[in-house]
Parts: sequence; structure tokens; C-alpha cells
Amino acid sequence: EAKISGDFERFMNWADEARRLKIRTNADTPRDAAQAVKFGAEGIGLVRTEHMFFDGDKIKAIREMIVAKTPEQMEAALAKLEPMQQEDFEGIYEAMEGRPVTIRYLDPPLHEFVPTKPEDIAELAAEMNMDVEELTAIIDGLHEVNPMMGHRGSRLDVSNPGIAKMQTEAVIRAAINVNKRHPEWNIVPEIMLPLIGDLKELKYVKKMVTDTADQIIADEGVDMDYHVGTMIEVPRAALKAGELAEEAEFFSFGTNDLTQLTFGFSRDDAGKFLPEYYAAKIYENDPFAKLDQEGVGELIEIAAERGRNTRPDIKLGVCGEHGGDPVSIEFVDGLGLDYVSCSPYRVPIARLAAAQAAIKHKK
Ligand code: PEP
Ligand code: MG
Repeated sequence: EAKISGDFERFMNWADEARRLKIRTNADTPRDAAQAVKFGAEGIGLVRTEHMFFDGDKIKAIREMIVAKTPEQMEAALAKLEPMQQEDFEGIYEAMEGRPVTIRYLDPPLHEFVPTKPEDIAELAAEMNMDVEELTAIIDGLHEVNPMMGHRGSRLDVSNPGIAKMQTEAVIRAAINVNKRHPEWNIVPEIMLPLIGDLKELKYVKKMVTDTADQIIADEGVDMDYHVGTMIEVPRAALKAGELAEEAEFFSFGTNDLTQLTFGFSRDDAGKFLPEYYAAKIYENDPFAKLDQEGVGELIEIAAERGRNTRPDIKLGVCGEHGGDPVSIEFVDGLGLDYVSCSPYRVPIARLAAAQAAIKHKK
């Protein structure tokens, strides 16, 4: 476990006095969240909920959800997932002790979750009372040529409304429970919808969220607020930000996908040809590591301006990898965004970079 010593902490506190940007962290476990708080994180800007399902029984339950064919199979899978999610969220809220937490709804590239090993397929088939051939056909049917541009993010909620309902139940019930234990924290969950590209799409998924959340809040007889916002990850969302801001209380720029889709470079494969681009002096940097201040930066600037025109107090943040890169931090400080969110170990770097950026921009 990493610790920050006295002198270093004093120095970092000076940096905090200078900076304007808030620094949040990307964390999917209470352990990472607590570590980030020690490093000075002021909240969580991104909980990748699909990461909470990578281990043990959890991956089995999410596999059941992904291959479900009948409404009964889907319902059975979601009933297993909901209490797991609720417990995970309670752990995260506890670790953050009332600091803001943005929970991003499921965005699993399906290929990362479907079973491939014969023994896993056999086990899943037995669990779901299917024969192996039937399950294998379903898995084959899930194959996508471009999974990163496929059936992921909010698109899953449009096809399977039960998923957004399940996650909302877990988010809201967890917050109600933790607020009962710690009324002083007054947790206001921030629900973030991934890969949105159109206002109607946002409205459609948001309605599932608000119907479910409002019902639970009324049934429980508690007085609790929550926020709904969206990621800006597809170029269309950046251009349509003025409309999206009618329904989104906050935007978080998912600069990993936004870079991928703006350049048309695969996040997972671009490393194979980018070195030749540096050699040919076409590009200087890896745009996945250093925010492209031209094309991608222009889209962020457009989205921030159009979003603020519609909703002047809209909260704006960055939660892609660039949120921990000093040059990218300086760029988004210049646009007046509210926060960046980065991995726990980059939080101190982000605090310093944000201070340097603020000092530079004040001159
Ligand atoms: C992003 O696309 O920048 C993002 C934060 O989401 P993910 O990396 O999970 O796709
Ligand atoms: Mg993304």
C-alpha cells in the first residue's frame, strides 16, 4: 500500500490551493477507491460497472445475461446480478465517504465476456438448462466484426431494458442503505449512460432509469436526489451536445472512445501502425496517450460550448486515459472543464498538472 509522507503532502496542498480543476478517480473496487482518496481524489468520475463482473460467480451471472434468449432467462440472470451490484456499490460509497460517485452503466464489449473454453460453455449450458449446441449457436450469433462499434453501452439497454432497471435498482438501493448508516454523507448518486449518440436514445434510456429510481425512492419513503448524465464518446454526441444537455445534467468525455471514433483508429490495434506515422512525421504522439488538441479537442470544445448554451451549469469532466496526462489536463483546464478523472496512481500527477495549468492560464 502506497503512502504519502508529510512534506510531500504539504507540497501537494500548495498545489491544491492553486488549481481550479477538481481531480476525481476511475475506480471499480472499494480498495482502489480508498487508495485514490489517500492520493487526494475528490470523487469517482468513472466506475466501469462491467469490470465488477470479471471474477468468480459474477462472470457466470453476466454470461447468463449476455446469452439469455427468453425473457425468463434474462430475468433470472438479472435477479442474480442485482444483489451483487448493490453490494459492490455499497462498498464503493462507503470507501468514498460521501464524495461524489459517478456510476457508468454497463458497457461490456460482448466478446470479452462470452465464454470460449469448452468447459465454460458446458457449465453455462447446464446452468441454463440448454444443450451445448444450442448455446454454441447463440454464442456464434453474438459474434461481431467490429465489437467496439457494436452492441455495447446504452445500445444494450435499448435492446434489453431490464439491464438499466437492474443497475438503477442497485445504485439507488445501495445509496439509500448507505445514507441510512451515514446520513451525514447525503449521497446523491450520479448515473452515467455510455456511448450515447442521440437525444431520443438518451431520453429512452433515461426514462428507464428515472421510472425505476423514482418508484424505489417513493416506496422507501426517503428523500433522496440523484443525477443522470451521459458520456460524450461518439463524435455525433459532441456535435449534438446542445440537445443532449436538455436531458443530461453532466457530460463526461470518454476520450478513449472519442479518439478511436474521431480518428477511426482502433484502440486495440492502432499500436501496430502508429509507429510508422511517427517515423513519417505525420503524427508526433500517440493520440490515445496525449489528447489530440486539434480534431478531438475541437469536438470537446464544441460540446462544452453547446452543452453550456443549453444548460449553463452543466458539469463537464474527462474520464478517458487523458484525464491523467499533464498536457491533456492543461488543454481541458483552458476549456474551463470542471474535473478530470484518472487512475488512482495518477491522482497526485493530475493534482500537480492542474495546479500548473491554472497558474499558466492565470498569467
Ligand atoms: C472512454 O471511452 O474514454 C472511457 C472512459 O470509457 P472506456 O475506456 O471504458 O471505454
Ligand atoms: Mg468508452
